Amino acid sequence: MHEFSVAQQILAVVLETAKQHHSTKVVEVNLEIGELTVINPHQLRYSFKLLSEGTIAEGARLRIRRVKAQILCNTCGYRGGIPRIEGEFHLYPMLPPVACPKCGSTDVEVIKGRECNVKNIKITKKEA
Ligand SMILES: [Zn+2]
Repeated sequence: MHEFSVAQQILAVVLETAKQHHSTKVVEVNLEIGELTVINPHQLRYSFKLLSEGTIAEGARLRIRRVKAQILCNTCGYRGGIPRIEGEFHLYPMLPPVACPKCGSTDVEVIKGRECNVKNIKITKKEA
């Protein structure tokens, strides 16, 4: 399952960051996920919950912000958003090809929309 490995990576980043800050508990995890990623937020939450059991990130709130896609067209130079992709495209194994809304070319670069980042985390520290 794709979300499971993504959740593993997220948890690794979260635990490493928490360790660096001498945290004893992760309260909240803020994620930025591009709308062009094939990630199902529900699966991701579920995977994270399972994986974080027994770690200091157990019970942490997972907040997911979808990042709107932005493309650069190599054919006509269009730069900007793309029309919303219809349907639950995370159900497909592959994304539909991204096309320029202006000229229809598929020779486009995705500037934004493929990220899956841990934006920040909220932690509590040990009482001194
Ligand atoms: Zn174009």
